[in-house]
Amino acid sequence: MALYKEQSLKIYNSLTGKKEDFIPLLEGHIGMYVCGPTVYSNVHLGNVRTFMSFDMIFRYLKHLGYKVRYVRNITDAGHLTDDGDQGEDKIAKKARLEKIEPMEVVQQYTVDFHNILNAFNFLPPSIEPTATGHIIEQIEIIKKIIDNGYAYEKNGSVYFDVVTFNKDHEYGKLSGRKLEDMIANTRALNAQDEKENPQDFALWKKAGPEHIMRWPSPWGDGFPGWHLECTAMSTKYLGEQFDIHGGGMDLKFPHHECEIAQNEAAMGTVPVRYWMHANMLTLNGQKMAKSTGNSINPGEIFTGDSPHLTKGFAPSAARFFVLQANYRSILDFSNDALIASEKGFNRLMESLKILKSLSTDASSSMDVAAWRQSCYDAMNDDFNSPILIAQLFEAVKQIHLIKDGKATITADDLKLLTKTMNDFVFDVLGLEDGDAFAKADDTKLNGAVELLIKLRKEARENKDFATSDKIRDELLALGIQLKDGREGTTFTVN
Ligand SMILES: [Zn+2]
Repeated sequence: MALYKEQSLKIYNSLTGKKEDFIPLLEGHIGMYVCGPTVYSNVHLGNVRTFMSFDMIFRYLKHLGYKVRYVRNITDAGHLTDDGDQGEDKIAKKARLEKIEPMEVVQQYTVDFHNILNAFNFLPPSIEPTATGHIIEQIEIIKKIIDNGYAYEKNGSVYFDVVTFNKDHEYGKLSGRKLEDMIANTRALNAQDEKENPQDFALWKKAGPEHIMRWPSPWGDGFPGWHLECTAMSTKYLGEQFDIHGGGMDLKFPHHECEIAQNEAAMGTVPVRYWMHANMLTLNGQKMAKSTGNSINPGEIFTGDSPHLTKGFAPSAARFFVLQANYRSILDFSNDALIASEKGFNRLMESLKILKSLSTDASSSMDVAAWRQSCYDAMNDDFNSPILIAQLFEAVKQIHLIKDGKATITADDLKLLTKTMNDFVFDVLGLEDGDAFAKADDTKLNGAVELLIKLRKEARENKDFATSDKIRDELLALGIQLKDGREGTTFTVN
């Protein structure tokens, strides 16, 4: 029997502001969409935190036995430097400054994004579609919105008519804003503005002659508005209505609000059943900003090459640190907090090794089944990873007591304890102990190669050149190159 049948998951729905029982549209299946990065610069640590939260959520849903289709897009066009539909396309701007093709910018930062996520042991999404790969679908949705009377064309651009939409539907329900208040609080339109109302947003923008990222459309050459791609791709891969939509808190308004409006205006359906938003990350108690220097790149965490860090950290230790906070709470990133977290992470990993050598008894002093359920209870309560981690440390305490002979465990309980620990530590939290093993392997490898270097030296001294050449050549075939120098022989591993 699938685990989800015996566990009752609750999800905090940003749309209702309540924790709700999670009931998927189709039993056993989940459609989940998460807004991906705009690939015009290295991925921001705050975004890594958001994606990590959804990676943990994806992992738990899979662990429960659901068949999950997880769609996370890549924004490679349409995201402008100014939220008010003005300014330049972020990718085109970067391409202009660096004098390279926009698709080179996209490639470079998509690769960076994947490298960072791989280092943190993310599972890849089921589908990772791009905005530029779905221009036709976006144009079709615009046509539908125009036909339904909720958009208008102006000089080759198309705008969503928020005022008309709000008469038949409710604009602002996700962010809790009222259109009347929004109108009262915004400046009047300039004469040159094409929009009928400042709250209207672009579905399609006309491309000026200098604009290189452009596609033909019924309204002339142009490019899609940023909000539209997510509606097009979520509808295409998950249907007009699907289970979970996630993203960073900062996307709630206007991006997600506009997605809802587009779906309702085009298809007449409320697209998402459960909206989930991950909270932001601060650095040393303050908002991260490159301009003030209060900023850190994800890759710098591994190397320690940052004024904010005293050393580098293993990716899994950093991942453990992030998941020690609830995804809906603000997480403050600091060197001290990371160091404290690293200690906890190492203790957790060490206990998993002790687990393998525990001796068993006729009875257990720990109620393993109840403890196991408390781990599920934590995750069933809106993916409360800090509570789960606290439960895992309850087990760590017991493991040490059993090791010291101050507590006992039966063979069956030890089996269940081991399976549960492994399930949650590796499958659900996505932690890896590879860092510790890699270091141990390095030491062993170094020792072995040094030994061969010594044997080769002895062979040469005995004029046994056949043996010395054989050692050199066979090491080279394994990707280990020996270099003879004045100081002796060194080696490199390719
Ligand atoms: Zn989106």
